[in-house]
Amino acid sequence: MAGTRSFRSSRAFLVRAADMGETDRRLTFFTEADGALTAVAKAARRSRKRFGGALQKYFLLDVVWTEEPKRMPILTSASILASFWEIVANWERVRYADYLLELVSSLFPQAGPQSKAFAFLLAGFRSLSAGESPVSVGRKAEAAFIALGGWGPDLSACRGCGREESRSFHFVVSEGRLYCGACTGRAGNLLSLGAVRTWRALQASSPATVGRIRIPESVLEELQTVIPKYLMWNFGGPFRSLGGDPTVGKP
Ligand SMILES: [Zn+2]
Repeated sequence: MAGTRSFRSSRAFLVRAADMGETDRRLTFFTEADGALTAVAKAARRSRKRFGGALQKYFLLDVVWTEEPKRMPILTSASILASFWEIVANWERVRYADYLLELVSSLFPQAGPQSKAFAFLLAGFRSLSAGESPVSVGRKAEAAFIALGGWGPDLSACRGCGREESRSFHFVVSEGRLYCGACTGRAGNLLSLGAVRTWRALQASSPATVGRIRIPESVLEELQTVIPKYLMWNFGGPFRSLGGDPTVGKP
């Protein structure tokens, strides 16, 4: 055997699984060390014990796999580091957990270290598990992921006059920019100063702080009308996990 096989390991979440042949499973993970990873779990169909029942969604896993040139990576072991039973027990939380997994793997599909995206994903799972409103967790994750990926939007000031504070702004999705009341006169979504400030705070948040940001319900309703729309405008959604409708699910 050529000596080019390498062992890798990482914390990971299972994104999806499918049967492969008579005995195997084809698994897609989002890993901290190497981003999106598709690997074969040999004999996983024949025996659930083969991986100790660890190949489940919504669990924080530690996975080990081998890589060889020109072959699909092979999963060698998986263990559970943390289980989030509070998510599994609630259908709305499951739906948003699926959405976070879909989002992160769509926005960061490339291989290579993804420690910050992974940390935001884990923070989202912890918040869902701790009982935070799924809609709030969803908007936070969207804002953090698009900012992390460098897709903005630029909320620093009115694009027309440069003012940073105004009683309200219009957000123009196609430009990813704000206009104040004096400069607008074009289409756009009305956003209160509170909503703009909250979105700015979410953009600037870290995985360690995002869970502590409290979004007032009225602001959440405003953000729900713009952040998913901006996301879809940039990525051509809709994302399946929420049924393709960004306005579904009330806070
Ligand atoms: Zn202005």
